[in-house]
Amino acid sequence: MEQVDLAVIGGGGAGAMAYLRGVLNCDRTVLFMGDKKTSRRGRAMWVGEVDNIPGMHDMKRPILGTVKSTLAWIDGQEPLQGIGTAMKDIATSLEQDGEEFVVKYGEGQAVRARYVILATGIMDVQPEINGSIDPIFPYANRGEAIYCVRCDGHRTLGHTLSVIGHNSTAASIAAMMIQRYRHNQVPILTNGTDPDFSESTEKLMAVYDMPVHTSPIAEVLGTPRTGLEGFVLADGTRVDSSRTIVSLGIIAYNQLLTGLGGEVDGSGKAIVSEKYESSIPGLFVVGDLVAGKKMQIYTAWDEAVDAADEINRRLRTRAFKEKLGQSLSSG
Ligand SMILES: Cc1cc2nc3c(=O)[nH]c(=O)nc-3n(C[C@H](O)[C@H](O)[C@H](O)COP(=O)(O)OP(=O)(O)OC[C@H]3O[C@@H](n4cnc5c(N)ncnc54)[C@H](O)[C@@H]3O)c2cc1C
Repeated sequence: MEQVDLAVIGGGGAGAMAYLRGVLNCDRTVLFMGDKKTSRRGRAMWVGEVDNIPGMHDMKRPILGTVKSTLAWIDGQEPLQGIGTAMKDIATSLEQDGEEFVVKYGEGQAVRARYVILATGIMDVQPEINGSIDPIFPYANRGEAIYCVRCDGHRTLGHTLSVIGHNSTAASIAAMMIQRYRHNQVPILTNGTDPDFSESTEKLMAVYDMPVHTSPIAEVLGTPRTGLEGFVLADGTRVDSSRTIVSLGIIAYNQLLTGLGGEVDGSGKAIVSEKYESSIPGLFVVGDLVAGKKMQIYTAWDEAVDAADEINRRLRTRAFKEKLGQSLSSG
């Protein structure tokens, strides 16, 4: 079984940065990028355009593009040959063996790694409309169903807006949209779920125009060609809305961490140290799967650099101690 310093699991922005940093630090690094199925479930796939990072404005599908060009650049660098290997495989299991990890992939193949960086991400929960999540996808692709307010909130300017959600987070987002982008009214569509708003949220709702509709969404108005126009609810109400923000929570892809007993928070995100080490020593987590951090590309990049540099520091410390031990025993 091949022995490496670092195995990075996940081929989105966080995983690509961890791999790049590992290679630039000259640590033998393998990257498991996942396959078509995990990519479709990842967030990188859904990012069509990025407005909130300098230099990315003219790029289409910028995360996928930067991952691809980064891997191609590494491959083309003669001095870096043999340091990194990127594979389009899913890591199917992660086991501990003493202080090391065994990552299984493909048809019974495995690699032994001294350290692991997990960057498998999360997915936003989608609204079910007549029992299916498919009706929202064309509008998610067009950027009219919005999942990241920090990224795309400004794109609601000049549009009628609704929020799909049923808890205080959904209501806080609606209030923020009214305050920040001067929307007159932002209806909240709970899509058949009982609302669960805190007392402080209800105070916001008393001040701002945020009507709550609890009837399920029966129909999406608009066409994938011309764009979102709104929703018809099961009780017959029509809600005009050319943009909608989906705030239904997340699914955390944490199985490789929880399989080892790693600690997660209530939403399933990894609880980590300052250097992004999980409660399993040697297993680091970066990107959207990290608890209590912004879910952004630049955050993912910074976390990945901190984790890879900490791993490199530990590898160097160990190598130094081994060399010191050898020179003491030979002296
Ligand atoms: C619609 C939308 C728009 C956004 N716009 C912006 C923006 O404008 N600016 C911004 O900063 N952020 C934006 N974000 C957030 C940004 O996309 C995320 O913060 C970022 O993609 C997180 O990167 P990640 O690597 O942690 O996760 P992901 O991008 O989700 O990548 C996870 C990767 O893990 C892989 N994977 C999963 N399981 C396995 C496995 N077992 N083995 C191997 N690989 C596996 C998947 O294939 C995938 O490649 C947006 C998000 C959405 C949904």
